[in-house]
Amino acid sequence: MAILCYARQSVERENSISCETQLEYCKTVIKPDERDEKILTIVDQGCSGGNIDRDGFQKLMKLVRRGKVSKVIVYKLDRISRSLNDFVNILQEFKAYKVEFVSSQESFDTSSPYGELIVKILMIFAEFERTSIINRITQAYAHRSEMGFYMGGRQPYGFELIPTVINNIKTKKLNPIPSETEQIRYIFEVYAWESVSLRRLLNLLVTENRKPLNGSDWTTSKLSALLKNPIYVKADSDVYEYYEKHGTQIITDLSMFTGEYGAQLYGHTKHKSDAPDWSDMKLVLLTHDGIVDSDIWIKCQKKLEKNKQVGNSISNRTSWLAGKIICEMCGHTMTTIKGKINKSGEIRRYFNCTGKSHKKSCPGTKVSIYAEDLENMVYDCISAKLSELKDTKRISANNSTAGVNELKLKLKAAEKAEKQLVDTMLSGGFNDDLLALANQKAAQLKRDKVALYDRIEELKSKDDETDVADNLARSWKIANYNRKKEVAMIMIHQIIISENGDAKMLWKI
Ligand SMILES: [Zn+2]
Repeated sequence: MAILCYARQSVERENSISCETQLEYCKTVIKPDERDEKILTIVDQGCSGGNIDRDGFQKLMKLVRRGKVSKVIVYKLDRISRSLNDFVNILQEFKAYKVEFVSSQESFDTSSPYGELIVKILMIFAEFERTSIINRITQAYAHRSEMGFYMGGRQPYGFELIPTVINNIKTKKLNPIPSETEQIRYIFEVYAWESVSLRRLLNLLVTENRKPLNGSDWTTSKLSALLKNPIYVKADSDVYEYYEKHGTQIITDLSMFTGEYGAQLYGHTKHKSDAPDWSDMKLVLLTHDGIVDSDIWIKCQKKLEKNKQVGNSISNRTSWLAGKIICEMCGHTMTTIKGKINKSGEIRRYFNCTGKSHKKSCPGTKVSIYAEDLENMVYDCISAKLSELKDTKRISANNSTAGVNELKLKLKAAEKAEKQLVDTMLSGGFNDDLLALANQKAAQLKRDKVALYDRIEELKSKDDETDVADNLARSWKIANYNRKKEVAMIMIHQIIISENGDAKMLWKI
C-alpha cells in the first residue's frame, strides 16, 4: 500500500503554482505515523482539469483499482477535476476502494467527519444535476404520449366524453358541460369555508334545490368523491406538491402544471387502516381546462383529510427536524409529541424537551413549540439560503460570461499574431538569430493560447454551477419529507429553543 501525491498544472504561468511546489504541500499533510509508508508521486503537466483524460491521472486510478493505494493527497481539490460530476464519481470510487482523500489547502479529509459531510453535500448537488436530467426526459415523454389521454374509468360528473385523436392515437377527451361546471364550482367554494361540513353542504344544496343534471340527488358520499377528484382542479405547482407529499407518482412534468389543465388520478388505491396510501397511484394532466382554482381545491382536500383523521402519515408522527432541536435551558434534544384533539378536530404535534419529560432535569418552564410552525420557519430559512446561493452563483456566472468574451478576444489576437509570425518566417525574411528568436516567440504565443483556452474553460464551468444552484432551489420547493430531512441534516447543525420560545438557527454551512 502506498500514499500517492498527485499534482497537475495546466500551463506554466507566473501566478500558477508549479507541480514541484504542489507536491511539497502534499507532503506536509502526511502524518508522522505514515512516514514509513511508500510515497508515490504522479504529475500531469500541461493538462486541463476539465476532464479526466490525463495520462497521469489514469495511471493513478489504475493503481487505486488494483488496491495499491491507501491515500491520495492533492494540493487543492480542483487538481483532481473541475467537473462536479467527475469529482463525485472519483470520490465514490476512492471510497469503494477504501482510499482516503486529502487536500492540503482546503483541510479536506474524507476520513474526518467534516470531510464526509462535504462529500455528502457534493453528492446531493450532483444528485440534483441527475434529477434535472431525468425531469427533462420525463417532460418529453409527457408531451409525446401521456399528456391528454383519458385513462378510463367512469365518466366524471360535469363532463362529457368526446372521441379525439392525440398523436395518431384514438382516445377520449373530457369536455366540460357549462351548466354543470357552475354547480361544481359552487360546491367547492362552499365546502372550502371553515364551518361547512359535508352534511351542511348537502343540506344547503337540498334547500337551494340544486341537483345533478340527471335529476338524481346529491349524497355526502357523492359530494366527497366529487371534492376529491383532481379532474376539476386547475392543476398548478401547489397541486403537484400536494400529490408529491402523498407519494403519488406524477407522470406529467412539473413545468406543465401551469394552472390551466385538470388532472386524473389512476391506478390502485390501497387502504391501510383509515389513511389513503397513494404510492401506487399515478397522476397525469389531461387536456381539458380545470374548473376550480387550486387554493380552493387544496383547502377542500385538507378538510376532507381532517375528517378522516389521517393518523399514520409520517409527517403526523414525527418531524423532518427530528434530532436537531435543542432546549437552551438544559441542552437536551426536544422530540415531537402529539397533542390532544383540539376543537376543530385536528391533532397538533409539538416539540417537548426530553430533559423535562424523561429526566426531570430541565429547569425551564414548559414551552410548547408547535412542530408545524417551526418546520415552516426553518423551511423558509432554507429557501432564503438557497436563493442566496443561487444569486451569488448567478452574479459570478454573469461576470464569467463577460470574462469569457474578453478572453476570446485576447485569444483571437494571439492567433492573429501567431499567424503573422509564421507568415514572416515562411517568407524567409529572417537570419538564423532572428529565426531562433521568432521560434521562441511562437512557442510563447502557443503557451498563451493554451492558457487562454484553459481560463475560458474554467469560467464556463461556473455556468454549470449556476444550473446546479438553480436546480437545488427548485427541488427544495417540491421537497418531500425525506428530502427535507436529508437537507436539514446537511445544512443545519442545531436549532436552539430558548425559554421564551425563540428559535436560533445554527448552520453547518
Ligand atoms: Zn430542557
